[in-house]
This record gives sequence, structure tokens and C-alpha cells, in this order.
Amino acid sequence: MIWRTAVLAAIACLFLAVPDVDLMLLSLLHHRSILTHSALPALIPLLFRRRIGLMPAAGALIGLYVHLICDALSPAVGFGQVWLPAPFKMPLGGLSRLWLAGNAALCFLLAQGICRRLSPGLAGPAAVVLVSAGVGIFYGLVNERSILSAAVCLIFPGLLGLSIRRRLLRKLPSA
Ligand SMILES: [Zn+2]
Repeated sequence: MIWRTAVLAAIACLFLAVPDVDLMLLSLLHHRSILTHSALPALIPLLFRRRIGLMPAAGALIGLYVHLICDALSPAVGFGQVWLPAPFKMPLGGLSRLWLAGNAALCFLLAQGICRRLSPGLAGPAAVVLVSAGVGIFYGLVNERSILSAAVCLIFPGLLGLSIRRRLLRKLPSA
């Protein structure tokens, strides 16, 4: 279980930077491209699942969750918006935040679904809580230099943590 959590954390850290690869493809994509600022980059490890298993895809989804939920905090103007690729290169405007937050939620739900499948019981969801909270605090404070960003990253792991706590309490014999 420890090595699985370590793999999850390492891949999550790696994928923190993946959405911003659009900056290297500016002839095709605008910054905050709809293609890279979505759950889509998690398809890369998913395509290799037969060789590497599903855990890297879950790690990728956690890294994307943290990046996207932090980006959802910026005002939907200029580079803060989500943009369609060439030849359109149009911004989503007011829908940008909804797109980012919706995809962040999707990434988190898929990550915990995969981990639940790989580690029966509470170990899978507990690993998702630990890794997403830890990576989220790190990214929020170090990369975004914002306590608000770190706090927002804790919303989904917090909710999952509460549901784990409820399940644990239900398992305890009543006094
Ligand atoms: Zn970004």
C-alpha cells in the first residue's frame, strides 16, 4: 500500500505541470487550452494501462485535479479563460470557471473510483485523500503562493475524508 501511495504521489506531482504544456504549443493552442485543461491528459497513462497498471492514471488525475481547481480561482478574463484550439482560438468566457471546476471534480471522482477498484476497503480512498490533500497544499502554497488555492484543493479530499470517517464510525461496535 505504501508503494502504491508513493507512485500515486509521484505521478500526481508530475502531472501538476501537464496542463501548461499548451505554452509550448502556442501555434496550435492558446494558453489554458480546453484540451490540456481537462481530464483528457490522463488518457496518456490510461493508454498504457496493460503495461503499467491503472495507478499511474489515478496519479495523473489527482495532479490534474489540483491544477484545474487552482486555475478555476482566477478571474475569467484574458489568459484566465479557457480557450478553444486553432483554428477557432476563442475563449469560453464566463463558462471557463465552470469548465475548470467541472473537470477538476471529474478528475477527482475518476481517481477515487480507480483507487477504490485497486485497493478494496478504505485503503484506496484514504490514499486519494492523503495524496490529493498533500499535493494540493504543496501546489497551492509553493506554485500559486496562495493560501486560498491550498484551501480550495482540500474541498474534495475533505469531503471524501468525511465519508471515510462516517464509514469507519459505522463499523465500530456501538457502546
Ligand atoms: Zn493552467
